[in-house]
Amino acid sequence: MELEAVSKSFKQQKVLDNLNLTIDKGERMCLLGPSGCGKTTALRLIAGLEVPDKGKIFINNYLVSNDKYILKETPERSIGLVFQDLSLFPHLNIFQNVGYALNELDNEKIKERTNYLLDCVGMLTFGEKYPHMISGGEQQRVAIARALAPRPKLMLMDEPFTSLDNILRDEIRDLTLSLLSEEGTSVIMVTHDPEEAMKVSDSIALMRDGSIIQKGAPYNVYNKPIDSKAAKFLSNYNIIEGIVNNAQTETPFGLFMTPGLLNGLTVEIIIRPQHLKIDFDRNGKGPNPTSEHGVAARGSVVRSRFLGKESLVELKMEFDQSILKASVPGVFLPPSGKNLWISVKRDRCFVFVKD
Ligand code: ATP
Repeated sequence: MELEAVSKSFKQQKVLDNLNLTIDKGERMCLLGPSGCGKTTALRLIAGLEVPDKGKIFINNYLVSNDKYILKETPERSIGLVFQDLSLFPHLNIFQNVGYALNELDNEKIKERTNYLLDCVGMLTFGEKYPHMISGGEQQRVAIARALAPRPKLMLMDEPFTSLDNILRDEIRDLTLSLLSEEGTSVIMVTHDPEEAMKVSDSIALMRDGSIIQKGAPYNVYNKPIDSKAAKFLSNYNIIEGIVNNAQTETPFGLFMTPGLLNGLTVEIIIRPQHLKIDFDRNGKGPNPTSEHGVAARGSVVRSRFLGKESLVELKMEFDQSILKASVPGVFLPPSGKNLWISVKRDRCFVFVKD
């Protein structure tokens, strides 16, 4: 699938701006971005539910939409759709909903495929029920089975797992993805949740204001965000600021190299909570500086919370009274007011000029 310089506006609002995107056969890509950045609109264009104002869309090397027409309608695109607003057919029961797109097969084959998929999504015993008789999460599972049934070449999914509870979400997500990979189906999934994107995809296309600002493997996008907005969108963060002086920026955590930046510019150093290191206070002293963690600065505990896998400790820093958040694996719940020393994993900090 390829989007070539696709733009789309609704009235005066430009929603997609010269969007270029290619997905290879069998690739699983997430369109990730904040609410309103145009993810669903991009998916609807690929599905043939909207016409681009500019640009071209190719599926399987066929031109399927250009800036005037939908040249191939949705059913001819060999795509599966799991959209939040594409509800099940209310007049068909669950079995009929899933088997709907299999009308070219004989009854025995339809029954086999439908029951197999209903079993996969844990809905085999619901076949006789109608959509209004099952919950929203159950409907979503049926919608996934229905989309998988005709073995589409490309699956388009818009936040497909959101209405499922945590355990079911992991289970149904893994199962759906393994069914899709078994059949070599390419997947484009929309989400605004970076963690979900990393769990699901081979590649992440990060969107902002109708454009793709970065595309790459989840590891690269997460660890080499293209700008400070991307870094801030991808995870929780702390910020410290400094002023550039002779290609270096002095901070309470030591000097950072800032080559190529003009003197006087303000830089933001973005640090994820898991990349802060905590040391105990020993008679008013902290750890010695190291090349890995730089210089430590002192803060006092404001709040500690246990979050299950890790503990989150908020500290008020002595140098400017700002609050930094440190994530520590396991149980670490120092009392409020306790002095601790904080340093940062220097190679995991992101340094950007402040906007
Ligand atoms: P979310 O994560 O909240 O679903 P999104 O990134 O998927 O957001 P879109 O649904 O593509 O965003 O919407 C992008 C913008 O386009 C929004 O401001 C939305 O209000 C607007 N928009 C989308 N569809 C239409 C439409 N049919 N008519 C008018 N405006 C629209």
